[in-house]
Amino acid sequence: MKVIHDEERNNTLFTGEVNMKATKSTMRDIPSINSLLDIVMKEPEFTTISHEIVVYILRKTVEETRDKVKQNPHMEISKWDLAEKAKEALRSLIKPSLRKVINATGIVLHTNLGRAPLGEKAAIMMQDVITGYCNLEYDLATGKRGNRYENIVEKLCLLTGAEDAIVVNNNAAAVLLVLSALAHKSEVVVSRGQLVEIGGSFRVSEILEQSGASLVEIGTTNKTHIKDYEKKINEKTALILKVHTSNYRIIGFTSQPEDKELVALAHSHELPIVYDLGSGTLLPINKEEWHEPTIGQCLATGIDIVTFSGDKLLGSGQAGIIAGKKSYINKLKTHPLLRAIRIDKLSLVALEGTLIEYIEGSAKQNIPVQCMLRRQPEELKELANKLAQMLQELTQYGWEIDVIPLNSQSGGGTLPGVNFESFGVSVIAMDKNAAQLEEKLRKYTLPIIIRIQEGRILFDMRCLSVNDLKTIQTACMTIAQEAIQ
Ligand SMILES: *Cc1c(COP(=O)(O)O)cnc(C)c1O
Repeated sequence: MKVIHDEERNNTLFTGEVNMKATKSTMRDIPSINSLLDIVMKEPEFTTISHEIVVYILRKTVEETRDKVKQNPHMEISKWDLAEKAKEALRSLIKPSLRKVINATGIVLHTNLGRAPLGEKAAIMMQDVITGYCNLEYDLATGKRGNRYENIVEKLCLLTGAEDAIVVNNNAAAVLLVLSALAHKSEVVVSRGQLVEIGGSFRVSEILEQSGASLVEIGTTNKTHIKDYEKKINEKTALILKVHTSNYRIIGFTSQPEDKELVALAHSHELPIVYDLGSGTLLPINKEEWHEPTIGQCLATGIDIVTFSGDKLLGSGQAGIIAGKKSYINKLKTHPLLRAIRIDKLSLVALEGTLIEYIEGSAKQNIPVQCMLRRQPEELKELANKLAQMLQELTQYGWEIDVIPLNSQSGGGTLPGVNFESFGVSVIAMDKNAAQLEEKLRKYTLPIIIRIQEGRILFDMRCLSVNDLKTIQTACMTIAQEAIQ
């Protein structure tokens, strides 16, 4: 292979050609698929993987190498290195990529970490249903076809005071269904201050457009009055939509009409009022400056339809729940979209298991989200002291361990700006900066997700169990020890 020096390259008119020659000779060094196959298939762990898949991975590895050679014609190529790369790719193919992680961020509903963790009852019920058959749409009393929603609906009505309910895939789908069934080709009046975008690109305006309804924006970002609604209601109006501004709060000079006023206005025009609650809680959550109304309280004001997520404050799996007046819910039940966005049996079982906890009065203890949001600072401080004690050994490696007060967030588009007083452990490692330590923890066998603040890493106690503390201890010890080896 010819090595081209920079000087020579500058003097050559045909640099391209010279480069190509160099490239070609290296290209020839790339091992054949068959020779790689021989090496890779010596590993017993891959012998059951189909030949096509192995060859596909080998081809991809070779392609990638070819691309690299084009960039860097002088690189060295080793058959063994390539085989190792292919083995890594095969291993990652058979290893689950969706894994359990430890949430030490203190954010209870972390959308990137799967929102609500499921309660134990729901998990056990799911396990039962996953591994066998179930009476999803089979009536055990009569031996005839049954209704997928029946059992859930009764529980939802009991817990919210709604006349009727229906459950779909998620809350975005719930809003889409309501608007499609009740407002297609008609107008929907929404306050400008409520035209929200929720993470994962759910935009109220776009969902409205998708449903075939047209949006009538009223008021201003900070203020909307009842007369703004009144002025825009006409014979084309199908409904008034209220949207919970779940992930932000406008503070200062603001106002929105009371639910009671909106209900009176809508009903005086014989229109329904629909409230997209976003998270929706069955139990009241009161912090000094914040009172999150329950789903039941919303419906009690006369709101006709509410929609909310299953995996936010409710604490179940992904689901979208629509509850309210029977006459409107009936229109949803016959809409063709319902079939396209229907909930699957696993989410349905998770939801039933979760609702049973609320009916039994044990939600505050047994629904992880409800329990975590209610953990008191004293309890969290005790837990932080415990972790700090468990990490004491690290001080001999020069690590600094401190217990500090923190503010945690509910997150996931719920209770915006509400602080939940918490406690945590802050850690500084001697030989690593916070970003390096964060990466080590994130890439640990059981990944630990943390926050960084002012050059320290923080373990917030709000979402951690005693078992999690043990994992954190082992992870930190491993990281500290590997540093000195
Ligand atoms: C979260 C949220 C949604 C979307 O709910 P998904 O269950 O994620 O589909 C819609 N509207 C509001 C106000 C929300 O907070």
